[in-house]
Amino acid sequence: MPDAVKPLPNHQCPLCGGSNQCLPTDTGSFCSGSNCWCKSRQFPPELLEKLNPEQRNQACICQRCVDDFHSQLHHLS
Ligand SMILES: [Zn+2]
Repeated sequence: MPDAVKPLPNHQCPLCGGSNQCLPTDTGSFCSGSNCWCKSRQFPPELLEKLNPEQRNQACICQRCVDDFHSQLHHLS
């Protein structure tokens, strides 16, 4: 029987190094993912492009970086 897919134990935001407060990472199960803060946020492609290819899908970006990015977009437009 194959093991269930587990979230990677990466609590650090790849952009700022802070805690990403990722719920699946904290609990070790994706079952809790529907309650994670990231479900109520949008991750713009431009934000994900800031990551190196090897950083993608390895750790969650933190809430602060998402908020910062959105406010920067807002100021630019
Ligand atoms: Zn961050």
